[in-house]
Amino acid sequence: MNTDPQTILLPAELRPSDGRFGSGPSKVRDDAITALASNAHNFMGTSHRQQNVRTVVGRVRSGLSELFSLPDGYEVLLGNGGTTTFWDAATFGLIERRSQHLVCGEFSAKFATAVAAAPHLNEPIVIESPTGTRPSAVASADVDAYCWVQNETSTGVMLPIMRPVGATDDQLVLVDATSGAGGLRFDATQCDVYYFAPQKSFGSDGGIWLAAASPAAIDRIGATVRWTPASLDLAIALAQSRLNQTYNTPALATLFLLANQVEWMLANGGLEWCAQRCDRSAQFLYGWAEASEVATPYVVDPTERSTVIGTIDFAESINASDIAVALRANGILDTEPYRKLGRNQLRIAMFPAIEPDDIETVTRAIDFIVQRLA
Ligand SMILES: *Cc1c(COP(=O)(O)O)cnc(C)c1O
Repeated sequence: MNTDPQTILLPAELRPSDGRFGSGPSKVRDDAITALASNAHNFMGTSHRQQNVRTVVGRVRSGLSELFSLPDGYEVLLGNGGTTTFWDAATFGLIERRSQHLVCGEFSAKFATAVAAAPHLNEPIVIESPTGTRPSAVASADVDAYCWVQNETSTGVMLPIMRPVGATDDQLVLVDATSGAGGLRFDATQCDVYYFAPQKSFGSDGGIWLAAASPAAIDRIGATVRWTPASLDLAIALAQSRLNQTYNTPALATLFLLANQVEWMLANGGLEWCAQRCDRSAQFLYGWAEASEVATPYVVDPTERSTVIGTIDFAESINASDIAVALRANGILDTEPYRKLGRNQLRIAMFPAIEPDDIETVTRAIDFIVQRLA
């Protein structure tokens, strides 16, 4: 008796208030969309060089400084192209000769690969750990930058942000916080560049990068002399950011939704409030999985389990992709695992915009589906 997962109908009480659980693009709050629509006439379709748009960029920059409690001298930069483009910019403007990379999944590996391919840089030092675990940085006199992710989105592992013991002042710590920023706590004094894109915790859309940069990172950007394509030139991005602009035309809706989300976070209590919301969601998800007979948290060490991206393995008797299909048929979207990880798994985002109660509802919906599929 093979139940077609498409035909499983969830009762009303097992339907979350919003069905978006994707790891990016992720849920955009209805209030943000409404605000965008009602402000459209003096914002959308207007010049990004004029005050209306520059004010929004200014609110993003000052709002992020406040949200992250940035120390004096740190500045928020932005540019077009998302995190992937920022990696390329970093290979020109932030890594001088050689970098060290902690690799524990797809995203951390991608930056290391981009650096390895850059003809003007030395072969990076890569410290790798098996997926589902995390490596640690090791101080090395050979490198001028340490690079890791705050949250490995492909596996659901989070990493602490701490300068390696023995690292020197002229070595930069570059943290890819694309899925961590806005949902995870961190101490900005422990890194030099904390960069991300707004389609994850910041409940906006993709296509831009943001970077909180320390004075040491800003100095490095200013001192770079190698030829750099203008669109990847962080010195140009810095100068434009200081004017609350981007080098070329940005997506205005993305900026608006980002500003709205940052202000929503601040109005509710800031980063600690966001992180606590994610903690609650994670307690629901991992607590349920630990008690379940068919589900298990993929990340074995509880302290390494991400509170913004949950990865849940299923017993062989259940096909996790059937669960994802049944969830999708009921409007619960994007719970499929990271493809290349190749596991019998669901991946569920728990970003601040996602209601913790909705996470709880999804766990009960999964139980209901598993019963029907068995
Ligand atoms: C999503 C993600 C990226 C890629 O971001 P783009 O804006 O699509 O380039 C990079 N790193 C991490 C950790 C991510 O989660």
